[in-house]
Amino acid sequence: MSLKYKRILLKLSGEALKSDDEIYDKHALESVSQQIIELSKQGLEIGVVIGGGNIWRGKLGLDLGLPQIEGDYMGMMATYMNGLALAGTLNRLGFPKVEVYASLELKTVTVSYNFKEARQKLKEGYVLIFVGGTGFSYFTTDTASTIRAIEIGADALLMAKNGVAGVYESDPKHNPQAKMFKELTHKEVADKNLRVMDLTAATLAKDANLQIEVFDMQGENNIVKVMNNQLESTIIK
Ligand code: UDP
Repeated sequence: MSLKYKRILLKLSGEALKSDDEIYDKHALESVSQQIIELSKQGLEIGVVIGGGNIWRGKLGLDLGLPQIEGDYMGMMATYMNGLALAGTLNRLGFPKVEVYASLELKTVTVSYNFKEARQKLKEGYVLIFVGGTGFSYFTTDTASTIRAIEIGADALLMAKNGVAGVYESDPKHNPQAKMFKELTHKEVADKNLRVMDLTAATLAKDANLQIEVFDMQGENNIVKVMNNQLESTIIK
């Protein structure tokens, strides 16, 4: 069966890599990596934006009396650790064509982000991992994913959630009866005030008419399943 998209930007939050009590879980790292390898071998061009929430979030610093700017840069640095963990696992599993692009320079282990080069590398079959978020404080990994998805010309931004199958009319954790949407327009997301991503990211996605697909990461092979139309999800276009 052919895959749903030719080129995607996969947004993974740091949580996708963690276990209940450790910042990394070997099985989680391997599962994500194996799925990326399988899809890449089928010809899918894949960029990944990785978050840092398993290690640090800027807001945590506020409780320690740290200014938000320092806290946010700490969060961006956490994404480097995750990007290297993912790249290292992909390499270890026998997939060498991985490039880690950084928004903020860390020359020893990453490459400075350049969108033309990134597009070329995707055509050559590289998996790209984007770290460092947008490179700016007061922004989020959701915004970074939206920008990178637009810049690499992705057919869709795949937003991997942890334990949530898609976009609901209200929070399913508080309202078990909440209805899940199969499809939405960007305008509906804005009009209904649905919290798919932060407002900056949502506005950018709407302006660029970027297709977004929200799905649940938790579950065996869910990234592969969503790419083969075998998983419920919400599509925003
Ligand atoms: N962050 C930032 N600018 C960005 C992206 C991230 O300042 O462009 C900081 C922010 O403090 C955030 C932290 O990095 O809390 C970790 O990223 P995020 O919370 O988005 O990670 P996720 O929850 O997706 O794992």
